[in-house]
Amino acid sequence: MKVLELIAASELAVKEREAPEVQAGQVRIAVRSCGICGSDLHGMDGSSGRRIPPVVMGHEASGVIEALGEGVTQWSVGQRVTFDSTVWCGECDYCQEGRENLCDSRQVVGVSCEEFHRDGAFAEYVVVPERILHALPDGLSFDEAAFAEPVGVALHAVNRAGDLTGKKALVVGAGLIGLLILQGLKKAGAAEVVVVDLDPVRLKLALELGASEAYAPSELARADFDIAMEVVGIAPTVKQAVHSVVKGGRLVLVGNLSAEVPLPLQAVVTRELDVLGSCAIAGEYPEALAAIASGDIRVKPLISASLPIEEGVEAFEKAAERGALKVLITANNE
Ligand SMILES: [Zn+2]
Ligand SMILES: [Zn+2]
Repeated sequence: MKVLELIAASELAVKEREAPEVQAGQVRIAVRSCGICGSDLHGMDGSSGRRIPPVVMGHEASGVIEALGEGVTQWSVGQRVTFDSTVWCGECDYCQEGRENLCDSRQVVGVSCEEFHRDGAFAEYVVVPERILHALPDGLSFDEAAFAEPVGVALHAVNRAGDLTGKKALVVGAGLIGLLILQGLKKAGAAEVVVVDLDPVRLKLALELGASEAYAPSELARADFDIAMEVVGIAPTVKQAVHSVVKGGRLVLVGNLSAEVPLPLQAVVTRELDVLGSCAIAGEYPEALAAIASGDIRVKPLISASLPIEEGVEAFEKAAERGALKVLITANNE
């Protein structure tokens, strides 16, 4: 099979490999579409310690089940599926509580680090445990289904924000996840969603996707939000998010471009803000797939390019271009 392999730091190559063998409890999926994630793009230079070469990245995929491992009875060959980017154990206390994003033995598909190595879906075939599979709704295209993961991440953040009915919300950062969070907030009943970003093209897209107002960060002249979603993760954006919510308001931190930022402590304490982190997905896959299928969350306007795996190196170059949102790598095209 063809794979797009990270052969050295920041160096990708299309290579031939044996298709992975399917073990007990696993299925092998013929990949049809897989999105390039910011964590692939930023992690492939080795800085995160989570993309140690050689590794096949790719954790936002859709495809068709092509082989079943021993003991797999709930799934059949030919079924259209996506899968959780987190391989969770199902047994630890966190998994038992439905917080599988915090699983004690959490692994991530397409990640290679000190603790584990799992090849991902920038490949013609990928194997994953059956427990992390989700069936695709009829009629949902493979390219749209490849968004189940980022949409799930966005919906998890929205769910962390609590009851949004009638609330005023601010989204700081209109990258891919920010634009999905915007749509998730609307779907959850927020009365107003305002977006800030430096890029005017993204602000225009935010308005098209339902933002009530969109501003450059320096132009935001109001601080009356019940909830702020911080989707960048650098000092000035965290600061703006903190100072934009009302007393007793809530801040959900999603972005983490910087490992550490200064926190406006007094503003958080004296105004008694709720500050919450949000990581990955904990059960939001069905909701994500349904939202994409119904059009409540529109993903097609977020596709910057879609290239076959043979052009995987070029796909990564496109994903690194300024203004790119989501670039998909396709395989097994009919
Ligand atoms: Zn991702
Ligand atoms: Zn677990």
